[in-house]
Amino acid sequence: MSAPRLAVTTSDVLPPEADCVVIGGGIVGTCAAWWLARAGQKVVLVEKGAIGGEQSSRNWGWCRQQNRDARELPLSTRSLELWERMGAEIGDSLGFRRSGLLYLSDDEAEIEGWAKWGRFARGEGVDTRMLTAEQATTRGAATGRPWKGGVWSPSDGIADPSRAAPLIAQAVERIGGHVLQSCAARGIEQAAGRVCGVVTEQGTIRTRSVVVAGGAWAGSFLHQLGLFFPQASARSSILSVAPGAQGLPDALHTAPVSVTRRADGGYTLAISGRANLDPTPGALLGARHFLPMFARRWRVLRPGGTQAWAAGVETRRRWALDRPTPMERARILDPRPDAGLIARTLARGRALLPALRDLPVQAAWGGYIDSTPDGVPVIDADIGVPGLVLAAGLSGHGFGIGPGVGHLVADMVLGRGPITETRQYRLARFGHSQWGKVSDF
Ligand SMILES: Cc1cc2nc3c(=O)[nH]c(=O)nc-3n(C[C@H](O)[C@H](O)[C@H](O)COP(=O)(O)OP(=O)(O)OC[C@H]3O[C@@H](n4cnc5c(N)ncnc54)[C@H](O)[C@@H]3O)c2cc1C
Repeated sequence: MSAPRLAVTTSDVLPPEADCVVIGGGIVGTCAAWWLARAGQKVVLVEKGAIGGEQSSRNWGWCRQQNRDARELPLSTRSLELWERMGAEIGDSLGFRRSGLLYLSDDEAEIEGWAKWGRFARGEGVDTRMLTAEQATTRGAATGRPWKGGVWSPSDGIADPSRAAPLIAQAVERIGGHVLQSCAARGIEQAAGRVCGVVTEQGTIRTRSVVVAGGAWAGSFLHQLGLFFPQASARSSILSVAPGAQGLPDALHTAPVSVTRRADGGYTLAISGRANLDPTPGALLGARHFLPMFARRWRVLRPGGTQAWAAGVETRRRWALDRPTPMERARILDPRPDAGLIARTLARGRALLPALRDLPVQAAWGGYIDSTPDGVPVIDADIGVPGLVLAAGLSGHGFGIGPGVGHLVADMVLGRGPITETRQYRLARFGHSQWGKVSDF
């Protein structure tokens, strides 16, 4: 069974025009549509498959400041507030709560890394607390063993990946927006040097603003416009066990395995950072940008297979706007998890937490994480086509900052002051933004 996800019914009528069209119904696209609709914009969100069907329902649900890159920290702090605000306004359970996150370790270098980050983050106002061996052992009592140290971040939390994006999409419709599923955007029309429409498989929507929040598909989509967005996707493997365990922390990270309580009382198990690299045309063409990251992570990345290539992820083919595109053949990216990794994750989870020993596996699934070369997203309204905003490359930690990224996108579309600094999210940091040199695959 794949990742559990709430299926929602949305509109089936394509509006002929909009103030803004959002492409992609993950956490970024739904949050952007929410903030735009809330600001009175006539917004249409188009999703090629199902709302939340790709990364946004396949993740652990962590919403954290802890161990964030400094460039993302203000956005993650704002996002935690926005999760609370959206939860209150939407009036349905997005599953967000400040449960606190617990990190435990026996590795002194790892503990010192957390301490160093803590010294920086406390200066930024983050509540992050180093744990002595005794405190770590007490907080980690469910493991039944002693620990050398840890961190407790009480103001961080978790939300429900199986429900958040679908519930936000429904809320967008309640406040006047339109959300269409099974409706791929095939391309952009331009006139007088700016965006003037979005061509979808169901027809064209006239608009002067478009947000590309297409996750792993964003690079291929921009390639059609001659724009270069360096993006590579890694395949994670993850599983959940049935409810029944008592006394576990809601969210626990250890190097062997990480465990998160799910809304149904079950637990998600995964090995942090472990992934398979399935080659794609986009990743191969942009390889030089990713070499430093791959070199840093070679211990946890394993060569993958042909799944991504076959599905058309990060294709660099040009497609016609009047025929089905690769995105319509892969409505929902549902990669097979690595069976060996799933078995190891389960064994490690059961060894770490005796309360999990007798619980059956509920589901196991794979998920492509779309990453930029520096692991920080691109959120940018100045990418070479006036009227086009890019918000993608969330690099494995975008669920927790989804509300803030969506708000920043709305700020850009509306031309109002942004909720946080945006310079660090520019596409231009990767060098030239116009590709135009590589022949099509
Ligand atoms: C196993 C795993 C664990 C993770 N754990 C965490 C975590 O604990 N905390 C955290 O913060 N993050 C986590 N992440 C990362 C997080 O899930 C992502 O960063 C985030 O969900 C990205 O959201 P998105 O909206 O950009 O992309 P997606 O959720 O992938 O959504 C993009 C959507 O766009 C649609 N689309 C693409 N192109 C088009 C088109 N042309 N027309 C119409 N629709 C289109 C796709 O179908 C897709 O639904 C994890 C990811 C994985 C896979």
